[in-house]
Amino acid sequence: MTSNVMSMTTSASVPAGSEKAITDTDVIDSLVAANAAYADEFTDPGMDARPVRKVTVVSCMDARIDLHAALGLRLGDCHTIRNAGGVVTDDVIRSLAISQRALGTRSVVLIHHTNCGMEAITEEFRHELEMEVGQRPSWAVEAFKDVDQDVRQSMQRVRTSPFLLHTDDVRGFVFDVRTGRLREIDPAA
Ligand SMILES: [Zn+2]
Repeated sequence: MTSNVMSMTTSASVPAGSEKAITDTDVIDSLVAANAAYADEFTDPGMDARPVRKVTVVSCMDARIDLHAALGLRLGDCHTIRNAGGVVTDDVIRSLAISQRALGTRSVVLIHHTNCGMEAITEEFRHELEMEVGQRPSWAVEAFKDVDQDVRQSMQRVRTSPFLLHTDDVRGFVFDVRTGRLREIDPAA
């Protein structure tokens, strides 16, 4: 099945003229090969599943953000929850509830970023999908125009969730994809 919506969104991330013949199969084969090399060098870290630094990072899935490197995190330190926009959806709350209640985390870091694809689409995306496939998605697109305001909204959703044990240490940031620097968002601004 061809998809106008998906080709529209994927074409935005592929610069014109750079369409190399890399198929999905090729890329996954290369990942599996990389894993074989990784596993050859891997030694069991003997870690518990509980994050050492008791922190969960909720971030946009953007390919330009290397969360562990950007935040000085190491294997075993944290939970990372990523989706389009770094939006605090019900499913993010689900993961946070498990992270806190079953695996002992207590701090939450929220990361949005500059030049996010979610600023380029609108809730009209749902309508376009419905027109194309004949079914309206159950989820909101959660597009936004003001990244600072969206970070505030995300902080508010975490802080007011009845399902979380710890909502006192919640901080939100915008990561600049060109400088690598975080800018903290004042929840009250
Ligand atoms: Zn993004």
